[in-house]
Amino acid sequence: MPLAVNHCGNFVNLASVLNILLINEGQDPPAAPSPFARISRRVMTDVNNVLSLSAVRMKDPEWINPKIIAFDLDCTLWPFWVDTHVTPPFHKNADGTVLDARKRHVEFIPGVPDILKELHRRGIKLAAVSRTGEIAGAKSLLKLFDFEKYFSHIEIYPGCKVAHFSKIHRETNVAYEDMMFFDDEFRNIADIKKLGVFTIYCPDGIEAKVVDSSLIDFDKSRSKRS
Ligand SMILES: [Mg+2]
Repeated sequence: MPLAVNHCGNFVNLASVLNILLINEGQDPPAAPSPFARISRRVMTDVNNVLSLSAVRMKDPEWINPKIIAFDLDCTLWPFWVDTHVTPPFHKNADGTVLDARKRHVEFIPGVPDILKELHRRGIKLAAVSRTGEIAGAKSLLKLFDFEKYFSHIEIYPGCKVAHFSKIHRETNVAYEDMMFFDDEFRNIADIKKLGVFTIYCPDGIEAKVVDSSLIDFDKSRSKRS
């Protein structure tokens, strides 16, 4: 199936793109939901029961958690590229909303605070791993969204993410096999998978049910139980 690239740089089905173009030749197409609206609806359905399946399985005394879970930022924790889709610097309004320099509302993917809070509560170290060149903007958003407190490692700089993971590995002495990584870009997943990290490709960003099932899959893959 031919592929095109969507707003976040991911490959999408070219047929759906062509369909929209063909509709445009005739009459007005129906309003397509924005990617952010789609993500909003999706996450609101599972955010009330954050990571519930793995919470039950964790009662097994032989359960194995990752020692570090790393998250990409752009299009994984928030639904945009910080260097192109929004305009730093960012600030927080009196009502608690975050705005960019053009006074546009900047939001994270719904459900992310609950996911980070629950993983942190379980004692798993969390890392933010981004290759954006907009380093100050990304760090500012981590602070303004109140995510910074959950991350023991924040590695944000351009280049292949092997460098980011090597630094975390050197500083923590945690084996790559004990790490988990979520990213919306397949090139990063491919690079980090080669290190032995348990990788999860999430082209539509993070969601609780995917984190939950990934924790269960990680335990199965690392467990010596038959
Ligand atoms: Mg990304």
